[in-house]
Amino acid sequence: MTNKNTIAAKLDVDVIRKDFPILKRKVNGQSLVYLDNAATSQTPQQVIDAIVDYYQNYNANIHRGVHSLSQEATDAYETAREKIRAHFNIGKRHEVIFTSGTTHAINLVASGFTHFLKEGDEILVSALEHHSNIVPWQMLCERTGAKLRVIPMTMNGELKMEEYHRLLSERTKLVFCNHVSNALGTINPIEGIIGAAHKVGAAVLIDGAQAAAHIKSDLQKLDVDFYTVSAHKMCGPTGVGILYGKEKWLNKLPPYQGGGEMIAEVTFEKTTYANLPHKFEAGTPNICGGIAFGAALDYMNTIGFEAISEYEDALVDYATEQLLAIDGLKIYGTAKHKTSVVSFNIEDIHPYDIGTILDKMGIAVRTGHHCAQPIMDFYQIPGTVRASFSFYNTMEEVDKLVEAVKKAKSMLL
Ligand SMILES: *Cc1c(COP(=O)(O)O)cnc(C)c1O
Repeated sequence: MTNKNTIAAKLDVDVIRKDFPILKRKVNGQSLVYLDNAATSQTPQQVIDAIVDYYQNYNANIHRGVHSLSQEATDAYETAREKIRAHFNIGKRHEVIFTSGTTHAINLVASGFTHFLKEGDEILVSALEHHSNIVPWQMLCERTGAKLRVIPMTMNGELKMEEYHRLLSERTKLVFCNHVSNALGTINPIEGIIGAAHKVGAAVLIDGAQAAAHIKSDLQKLDVDFYTVSAHKMCGPTGVGILYGKEKWLNKLPPYQGGGEMIAEVTFEKTTYANLPHKFEAGTPNICGGIAFGAALDYMNTIGFEAISEYEDALVDYATEQLLAIDGLKIYGTAKHKTSVVSFNIEDIHPYDIGTILDKMGIAVRTGHHCAQPIMDFYQIPGTVRASFSFYNTMEEVDKLVEAVKKAKSMLL
């Protein structure tokens, strides 16, 4: 039995919860229990304040104005880029490319690789991928004639590493894998994945959208070629994220979109491109979003990622233990290393029906395939009920979830 109190004591969750105005909300007459953090996290007042401050005090376009507001906005945006660099221990600030999120970042890389692949080349993707990390590669394969191969998974939701090593060859040009699976919570052994890929000369993109809220990664130490993050999964706003790329790759890849900001010189005969990072940042970016992303990192670092992940692990352990005590409940994704997600079904009750009843009780969970249909096909289920936790959730909320699931079961069976 997890000792709820000792672990909770390391984080003052009651104080933390006061930072999140939305947690005071009622939903269907009940106090909101927000357990859909893997889809998007909630926003603390500190980040909301940064957004309001921007629009109230220094809203202006960046990088081109000589006037004061433009310079203030530029400084704040570039300061945010520096915070992101420092947080992920990225070597150079211009290796941080602002994007609209992970999906945009992955598409940017997939588009760029069109120039480097040919028939006979292979791209390996893990069986645990989000659709946003499958479809762009399929499109890339269609464009180039390269072949997509899948690293298979076990019933526990872990990648079969021996199969991965078998699939790697000098034909492998790219390997794509998420750091943490949004559907099952598996933490993938990315150090081993990256190291082995580099031995055969393949580049590696790790989708960190799910991991970044729970694990502070040192990207230089990982020696990863590309890493993607979405701010909205880590207390930031929607519509902003980053692509980290090693400088040598970013120099090689062609620009993804043409427009303002990404050019050095334009004539109708020929355009030359701006230096990094601007080469990949065409048009007016999400200025306020980037600044707010920096504020979100400040907020989470003040709490501390070690305390966050330890506490979230305790929530997951407690939820797992309590849910498994329900007769007929099955948990999908039982990897040894997992974080923040509990995906489950009860006998053959449709997950949607459970989710609907939970919503009536104020509990927000996700139901369905979680943008990871191949995983659901693997288990031969239509989907799961997914409870996903953040550091502002409480053990009492886990108790509420468990009670509500029991009630739903008694209503539906
Ligand atoms: C959320 C998520 C994505 C997609 O992120 P967007 O912000 O929607 O672009 C991709 N991969 C994983 C693992 C995710 O959790």
